[in-house]
Amino acid sequence: MRTKIVAGNWKMNNDQNETNALIKALKSQDSFGNTRVIIAPSYVHLAQAVALTNDCEIEVSAQNMHEAKSGAFTGEISPSMLSSIGIRTVILGHSERRAYFGENDDTLSKKVANALDHDMEVIFCFGEELEDRKSANHFEVVKAQISNVLFQLNAADWSRIILAYEPVWAIGTGETASPEQAQEMHAFIRNLIQDQYDTALADEVSILYGGSVKPGNAQEIFSKQDVDGGLIGGAALNAADFTTIIKSI
Ligand code: PEP
Repeated sequence: MRTKIVAGNWKMNNDQNETNALIKALKSQDSFGNTRVIIAPSYVHLAQAVALTNDCEIEVSAQNMHEAKSGAFTGEISPSMLSSIGIRTVILGHSERRAYFGENDDTLSKKVANALDHDMEVIFCFGEELEDRKSANHFEVVKAQISNVLFQLNAADWSRIILAYEPVWAIGTGETASPEQAQEMHAFIRNLIQDQYDTALADEVSILYGGSVKPGNAQEIFSKQDVDGGLIGGAALNAADFTTIIKSI
């Protein structure tokens, strides 16, 4: 049985007080059952988030990290810095990192390798642009994004990979992929993994959907066979909305 996961990417939102308040509000909810709940506050609030969640089931992830282990990279954060404060998970390849910070397959391959070297788990994001979908190129784009970065990994590494399909046209736009579009792409991804590795591995990998998931549409999207949860942006900033989304699984 695949692990169900709901992860909240807080992006560049919430100051220290807001971070504390949101975590406290999430902690006041009932148990989340078997669903893994992950939050990704900004770098500067990670240590306090770890401290605030060490007595509950909520996990804390970083939103990014640098591809090098250490060195002269002013302003950057390394995986050993993250693991030294108790961070075991990192989001890599988010479309905003690709679009605004020039991250490409080469950078992401190095980041994934460096994260795995530090025993970290990776939430690997990918997804097509609107033009790709309009020109019916979306499957090829997604195939390249996954195979160029992840198919050099050995099978054992995949126990620390979570996939997040996030069509760029659906992120922060209010436009959501239909449950059928999400299922179609997730099944395509699982087949790719099966062809490259094997059925057992493909069946084990959690594939999250991200892109304007809200309390009103989560249940329908999560009900699809190959959708194992969500990566949530805007709606993760509101405790009630995020909780409703988690409980939609
Ligand atoms: C995201 O940025 O990963 C995301 C899914 O954002 P939103 O839910 O706001 O579309």
